[in-house]
Amino acid sequence: MSKGAILVTGGAGYIGSHTVRMLAEEAGYEVVVIDNLVFGHRDALISEGVTLVEADIADAASVEDVFSRYKIDGVVHFAAFCFVGESVTDPLKYYANNTAAPLTILKAMRAHGCDKFILSSTCATYGDPQDIPMPETHRQEPINPYGHSKLMLERILKDCDEAYGIRSVRLRYFNASGCSPDGVIGEDHEPETHLIPNVLRAVKGEIGPMTVFGSDYPTADGTCIRDYIHVVDLARAHVRALNYLENDGESFSCNLGTGKGASVKEVIDAAEAVTGKRVPLQYGERREGDPPELIADSTLAKDLLGWEAEITDIKTIIESAWAWMNGDKGGKYKD
Ligand code: UDP
Repeated sequence: MSKGAILVTGGAGYIGSHTVRMLAEEAGYEVVVIDNLVFGHRDALISEGVTLVEADIADAASVEDVFSRYKIDGVVHFAAFCFVGESVTDPLKYYANNTAAPLTILKAMRAHGCDKFILSSTCATYGDPQDIPMPETHRQEPINPYGHSKLMLERILKDCDEAYGIRSVRLRYFNASGCSPDGVIGEDHEPETHLIPNVLRAVKGEIGPMTVFGSDYPTADGTCIRDYIHVVDLARAHVRALNYLENDGESFSCNLGTGKGASVKEVIDAAEAVTGKRVPLQYGERREGDPPELIADSTLAKDLLGWEAEITDIKTIIESAWAWMNGDKGGKYKD
């Protein structure tokens, strides 16, 4: 079944590559990936027939060339920087890459009559949580440039719908985690800042003891609670969002999470149960900007996309991350 080509920006990255695989292998789309391979990995594109264009989305000529060569029916946009701390020390890098660069894509979409855009957005657009679980109506006051850079793109997309009829679904992820259950593709960030891969790297002895950032939070066990959402569930949400726009759905933003929280200690306990080993750890100071608890209300995604997280158990998520770290690639791509 040919539905036309889908352009996936940043498709060689962590969430992008899982989405590309699902679009190509399960949903039967022709997929064109544009990725500058700064953080993406050529090896993460494992599905047959996927085209990789190695270019930066800020390069308008390359973007125009892609839209001229392929008939692009829709865009799934991942290409972005995502280190919160770095966004504080180098905000221009984040506004240039996360807010300004995607304008080339939107201009090309307008020129070529492409009207469907799926955005990889984030719960960081909300800032400090007022209500738990957080609904989409929660106030959006980001507390770092990363969150602002994504919130501005959400705003740009609303205006592009008004003015040009480019419809969009803005997906606000909570904590993306896990890997393909078959261990073939997964998470390979350098530097790695996320909890689950660092816990597992510590178990494998690839790094020293992991640090628990703060144990005096106002939570049951004193450590931060997050809503860990499996990357395959996230990938499915993008396919659903694309189908929704293909069926003439109107633009909207929604959360993607499980609605269930796990504390840092619970993640460590689950990692010990999965690996059968102790997690070498030490307790440290709170990390700046970490709220005690973040949990999604994903009712809207269920109502409008028919999407719900299928994996809601933290142990299952960790099992998949462990499978990737012990698979053929050992948790690392070659390039
Ligand atoms: N965390 C930690 N040690 C680490 C990495 C993370 O204690 O080495 C904590 C962090 O403070 C937060 C939670 O684990 O409460 C999830 O952090 P992560 O960086 O994975 O995602 P974030 O919530 O920052 O997007």
